[in-house]
Amino acid sequence: MIRYCTRCLYPETKPDLWFDDRGVCSACLAFEKRGGVDWQSREREFVEVTNRYRSTDGSNYDAVVPVSGGKDSTYQVIRLLEHGLNPLCVTATTDSLTPIGRRNLDNIRRLGVDHIEVTVNPMLRRKINRLALTEIGDISWPEHVVMFTIPVRIATQLKVRLIVWGENSQNEYGGPAAAAERNVLDRRWLEEFGGLLGLRVSDVAGQEGIERRHLIQYTYPTDAELKAAGVTGIFLGYYFPWDGYQNALIAQGCGFETWPQIVEGSLANYENLDNYQTGVHDYFKYLKYGFGRATDIANNHIRRGRLSRKDALALVKQHDGKFIRTYLGRPIEDIIGEIGMGMDEYRVICDRFTNKRVFVCDNRGNPLRDAEGNLIKTNYDNS
Ligand SMILES: [Zn+2]
Repeated sequence: MIRYCTRCLYPETKPDLWFDDRGVCSACLAFEKRGGVDWQSREREFVEVTNRYRSTDGSNYDAVVPVSGGKDSTYQVIRLLEHGLNPLCVTATTDSLTPIGRRNLDNIRRLGVDHIEVTVNPMLRRKINRLALTEIGDISWPEHVVMFTIPVRIATQLKVRLIVWGENSQNEYGGPAAAAERNVLDRRWLEEFGGLLGLRVSDVAGQEGIERRHLIQYTYPTDAELKAAGVTGIFLGYYFPWDGYQNALIAQGCGFETWPQIVEGSLANYENLDNYQTGVHDYFKYLKYGFGRATDIANNHIRRGRLSRKDALALVKQHDGKFIRTYLGRPIEDIIGEIGMGMDEYRVICDRFTNKRVFVCDNRGNPLRDAEGNLIKTNYDNS
């Protein structure tokens, strides 16, 4: 039987999650601690930190802001502009950029900022998507690598000393206490929590015709390069109360576009709109750990008092972990076809990464699926 948090819906299978003796998970505990934060003094701290790093004579940018074009990055840029900062926005193009994702990136530029977009070789990228899906069950591995490496590379090269990231996911979604309370992001954080699942960039070289020279943008600057440039990364979520839903509303006030309906496998229409492959990424998270994006969002609402645990569970049962037929309206056949994979192969990989403790299997250990092709959880709650 899988144990769930008594306050939210996270299962014990979630990586880096831990429970206290009341059965409350580390994500809920980290959120509870925010209640004691004096946000006004945190904002003053933000002003002090950015003053220390900002360009005094206007000859360089004040900070690099990594932006995907999503609600959170739109919100980050708005906050920086409000504080009179002159950010350089940096985008690592997503694995399979959607038209709405492109429009939301254009919108960020129209907030009034300079923007650099780095697009890596798409042919190589698809090979890596395929390799990562097959080997570690994560199609989005290359995206998670370049999301972190490219802004740090640019900051180092242009000698912009401050990088302003969004949330510390270890605080928002529960992780080791030391990592959850940190307000800086460095190479160690990336290696431990950046979602690399034990596959290192150096492991990819030499496979499928991928060479080291193809992986320049996937490579984090060395400690010596970082030290020479004096680059530091901070999390905006440490200085301002972080709430995805609030960020989405603020972003919409500044031209951010939402999807016309709830995104497949989600509970929202305001996030994960920029990459067709995200549906596959989230589905594999569900296969491995028994929870998907709907659970993440429902939990964020529970902690902020917008949903009861009972109502959230009903929503999650309805939306989480459905075998995806489309994502943002694009058929799954086309999404995986882009990385050179057919449905038969895809289904085999799905079954291979299905957690047999979480899902009902037949007596030969094969996962059972209902009439709609969906897996059946052994238990949805602690009862
Ligand atoms: Zn919890």
